[in-house]
Amino acid sequence: MYWNHETECIPRDQLEELQLKRLQQTVERAASSPFYSSRGLKDHAITSLADVRKLSFTTKQDLRDAYPYGMVCTSLDDVVRLHSSSGTTGIPTVIYHSAGDIDRWTDLVSRCLYMMGVRKNDVFQNMIGYGLFTGGLGLHYGAERIGCLTIPSGPGNTKRQFKFMKEFDTTVIHVIPSYALHLADTLESMGVDPRKEFPFLKSALLGAEPHSEETRKKVEEFFGIDAYNSYGLSEMNGPGVAFECPEKTGMHIWEDAYLVEIVDPETLQPVPPGTTGELILTTLTREAMPIIRYRTKDLTSMITEECACGRTHRKITRFTGRSDDMMILKGVNIFPVQIEAVLNGTRGVGRNYQIILESKGHNDHMIVKVEIDSSLSIDDFKSLDKLRQNIVRDLRDEILITPDVDLCAPGSIPVAQGKAIRVIDNRTL
Ligand code: ADP
Ligand code: ZN
Repeated sequence: MYWNHETECIPRDQLEELQLKRLQQTVERAASSPFYSSRGLKDHAITSLADVRKLSFTTKQDLRDAYPYGMVCTSLDDVVRLHSSSGTTGIPTVIYHSAGDIDRWTDLVSRCLYMMGVRKNDVFQNMIGYGLFTGGLGLHYGAERIGCLTIPSGPGNTKRQFKFMKEFDTTVIHVIPSYALHLADTLESMGVDPRKEFPFLKSALLGAEPHSEETRKKVEEFFGIDAYNSYGLSEMNGPGVAFECPEKTGMHIWEDAYLVEIVDPETLQPVPPGTTGELILTTLTREAMPIIRYRTKDLTSMITEECACGRTHRKITRFTGRSDDMMILKGVNIFPVQIEAVLNGTRGVGRNYQIILESKGHNDHMIVKVEIDSSLSIDDFKSLDKLRQNIVRDLRDEILITPDVDLCAPGSIPVAQGKAIRVIDNRTL
């Protein structure tokens, strides 16, 4: 049941002792990098975990400013790998790892996989980008360490994915949620029943982008499997930061490796458990490039109740979005997942959608492009009109503004190779 019982079920007082020791080591180590030494990290004595709040936050912009080597603490001879975040513009952010860092990261990933029931007799198909992106290699190493037959199929090439799944009797897939829905669409259009076609498939890891509980359910029901939420970011290694246990009531965040804070994104002050705020993480075991108080921009809340699975690491709730993917329309704050939840709760709606923002005169205007599902025909104007009106009404109730809804045929919104592009902002104001 546990990959490492001692670590996963460590009593909280011992965990906090361990965290303090590791935080002190981390601060001392980080102080030797050009970036953190210029911030006077050594001036702060760390005698309790709360002392972390004396230290400044680190942002994505800091990582860019420190590019290429400003945050590295070891000799470059000891660095064995780099990864870069999928940021689309400007200077990339690069994270460096020592051999020990890769080893500890791999262990965290194996811990997650083992927790969801992955064992050495499993066949693990990794439909995630390899290369600079952390999802491919990160999960690959973790699955291999457990002893799975690991298929580095990478993203895209849907027909080949199905061929592998069928011929190698794949039992576990790692997939971006929007791509999981695309796989479902494709199978449906081929008239293939996944439960018959892939009888050995039992579970999926859904990660890398925000998705709703309804999306998880759709994937679970369509494929007849269990799907688990997987969270990570390249600045904190990648996957293996937080992950659902079989209880599926939040993601355990591995507190032996990360010190967790949740703060109000405006005031940057801590928020109480149960209140949504921005997740702030400090690496506790990273050697080559420790990062202190990283502002993830990801919004979640802390669950303090004990988990029935016996693990003592606290859980965080499903992410509601990023503090920076928040759209502000006519003064209203809107998250794409709110729209997703409405669409997913509507009969006749297909698997893909896109939000387009435009300026109409001096006003913001939202167009939601929505694929219909195969139970409807794109020529059935009457049914489509009714569906459109229902969606407009439900969206207005949820987000307080009235969007235009543009219904289109299944599969007509292009699917990105990586993370789905949910919002296209064409506003000129
Ligand atoms: P980038 O930040 O450039 O997209 P990463 O590949 O490191 O590069 O992406 C990490 C980000 O992806 C996280 O900060 C978070 O916003 C998002 N993410 C990853 N996993 C999940 C998840 N399970 N739920 C919601 N968002 C996620
Ligand atoms: Zn649990």
